[in-house]
Amino acid sequence: MHRSSPAMLYAVAFVLVFCACSDAPTPKVLVIGLDGIHVGVLATTSTPNIDSLAAAGAFSDAAQTLVRTVSGPGWSSMLIGARSDKHLVTSNELTGHNYAEYPDFLTRLERINPAYNTFAVLDWPPLATTASGGPIISDAVDVKLFFDGSVDGYGWADSTSVAAAVEHLLNEDPDAAFVYIGAVDEVAHATSTHGPEYRAALELADAYVGALAAAVRRRPTYIDEDWLILISTDHGRDERGGHGGDSPGERTIFYLASGPSTVQGKITETPYIVDVAVTALTHLGIEIDPEWDLDGKAVGLRR
Ligand SMILES: [Zn+2]
Repeated sequence: MHRSSPAMLYAVAFVLVFCACSDAPTPKVLVIGLDGIHVGVLATTSTPNIDSLAAAGAFSDAAQTLVRTVSGPGWSSMLIGARSDKHLVTSNELTGHNYAEYPDFLTRLERINPAYNTFAVLDWPPLATTASGGPIISDAVDVKLFFDGSVDGYGWADSTSVAAAVEHLLNEDPDAAFVYIGAVDEVAHATSTHGPEYRAALELADAYVGALAAAVRRRPTYIDEDWLILISTDHGRDERGGHGGDSPGERTIFYLASGPSTVQGKITETPYIVDVAVTALTHLGIEIDPEWDLDGKAVGLRR
């Protein structure tokens, strides 16, 4: 039998503290983009998966787009973290963009450190391809999948995208991912209302959110990880299901941040569309460099 000297106890304490630090869960982020969601319809449609993520995290149904209420500037601003006066996209014609200086958050991660594993699955062509002067998400992303919703239909393309994302989340090791769901917007345009078809498309999008969140939780290394799930939309809708104008219904969007590192409850300060990318980067431990000239702030994180 022997006694531990104070020096030994300090040494043991140091090792324990050090090990606790190095065992901190690895931050990871999944951004889910649902195209063209009216917050009033979201509030009155059955979306149990979005609801349970919102109940566990931070939610706002009063977030604002700040940019023209169409997809080109909407997705650009959300995924870059800067407004149209920076990335220069003001319509669905993206030619003349400044994505070189203001890249999407996945591309920015690759520039910061190519060791980041980045993933995107997309079915609206300008997000992924040179269609309309794109892509919004560059080819620097490690795995970028594209299923063409404009050719094969957004119903098929969304379900194929989600299946591919579930597979990737379960079997690969992404640090940051973006999954896009397009059919909700398409259905609203086709029916020109907030009617039953639009609500059904939103219910299906909610089921996709559930499948993606379940895939995150089923990861074999989930216990060692700190996942942030961010969900938002590029624009709302007017009363006839259209968008592109300046009405509150078109400008108002939702913002949802859910995970062990988020605050819980309704967000009181107004989130803006540009906050999504900045929150994603911040969760990953990235210091936002003022030289990047971003407009967003981190919203819903505990620290
Ligand atoms: Zn859109």
